[in-house]
Amino acid sequence: MRNTETVSSNVYFPICVADSVARCMCQGSIQFNGSHGCSWCLAQGESYRDALGKRRWIYPPTPNLELRTKDQFLNHLSEYSEILGNGSSASSHFGIKEVSPLLIPKFDIVDCLVFDYMHTVFLGVVRTVTNLWLNPNYHGEDFYIGRKTVQINESLANVAVPGYFSCAVRTLNEVAFWKASEWRTWMYIVPVVLSDILQSVFIVHFAKLVKAIMDLSSAAISPNSTSFAERLLLEFTDGIQNLYGKEFCSFNAHALSHAPKCVKNWEPLFAYLAFQFENYNGILLNLFNGATNPAKQISNRIDQLFSSIELSYSMRSISATDYFIKLVKNIGSRKIGVSVNSVSLFGKYRQRYLNSSEKRIFVEHDIPCNQIKIFKHCLVKSNTDAANNNGSTGKRCDSIVEVNGEIFMISCIFLANNDAFCFGQKVCLRELGSYIYKVMSVSKRTMLIKLENVSSKFIIVCTKNSNEISYLVKMPNTVESE
Ligand SMILES: [Zn+2]
Repeated sequence: MRNTETVSSNVYFPICVADSVARCMCQGSIQFNGSHGCSWCLAQGESYRDALGKRRWIYPPTPNLELRTKDQFLNHLSEYSEILGNGSSASSHFGIKEVSPLLIPKFDIVDCLVFDYMHTVFLGVVRTVTNLWLNPNYHGEDFYIGRKTVQINESLANVAVPGYFSCAVRTLNEVAFWKASEWRTWMYIVPVVLSDILQSVFIVHFAKLVKAIMDLSSAAISPNSTSFAERLLLEFTDGIQNLYGKEFCSFNAHALSHAPKCVKNWEPLFAYLAFQFENYNGILLNLFNGATNPAKQISNRIDQLFSSIELSYSMRSISATDYFIKLVKNIGSRKIGVSVNSVSLFGKYRQRYLNSSEKRIFVEHDIPCNQIKIFKHCLVKSNTDAANNNGSTGKRCDSIVEVNGEIFMISCIFLANNDAFCFGQKVCLRELGSYIYKVMSVSKRTMLIKLENVSSKFIIVCTKNSNEISYLVKMPNTVESE
């Protein structure tokens, strides 16, 4: 309320991102490891006793899945209410066990629960299949690679990831502690790193998952590529049963089949990636102690935080206020040195005169220039990082960029004649498959590149040693962040 005017606002949210455990709770349905446990279809699944005698609920590939709809879901809920009203003790009906708190206006209780590829793919299917490859219990199987871990670790030690990844991939010695970001990197590079280690039938099978997920998280998604991804995922799911056995037809593998429809409804997968929400969990964890009413504790702490920020405005010293706000808000921002058109150059620069060969390059482009201001890194169009090659560490690399369909290695980022440029050497490639390239050579000729033309950056670099780039894996989009 402001003065005497009352302002009312309706707040709607179109989607809900949750892992499989939380999604079932949000939907009011039983957990995924039970009959009719899928939020999006009526696949029943079946109980299966594995080789060790352990029972698990599996979802063997089923053609022509009957998809749930909101109306059908509400009908099933109504039927369940009647069943209970008649004195039955049924614990659920078509997987529905209670009234969801999300039965609210403008929210579709089926289709607004989106496919969560961080948990389902990276921490789900990719982790499961990899652990299978490494599990000594399967040492007699063709897919067992546990004897090659030293060789694989050598490759992993020479993988550089884009700077926006929260972490580089560690070796298999620490695979039990890998985070989702590392499983994602691993998924992207498996076709390269395991090409001489894992039999091709398993590589080809896994590559179908990689290609499908790459396509579904591409900014340039089309109806054709979505349909193709749908076919690849069905082949991948069928392959799990054929290559590894029925017991590995997990719910996560089944859930893959629902990703394409989610993309048709809600655009590419990166638009509702769980990384950012998951990272915020770390902040929330610091806002309560013990298990007594954590929601209330978090609410109280946030109230205290905002009160203290309000209090800071009464401080006499402006610099003290700024410092205090920075502390309590945990703000960590990059200082922008210069912003030109759609390019932001960061940090301190150093100024130098062009040498004779560099001058020739500028003359060829008819740009008058004698001096340049050199920066270490920049951000193009708010989402694409680029950095000098000599400014990268071994595990991070933002110096390989795509410009008008060609790949370049950046050697120097600079401001010249009031515009943002870089010098780069063209990387000659051979495409091994969508998104994967073998590096044939790096040209010695230096090219002048306008940084605003850097359109695609997110590339993982695999190297045989610290100086030799062997393969590049192109990231499917430039907007994904962690
Ligand atoms: Zn399903």
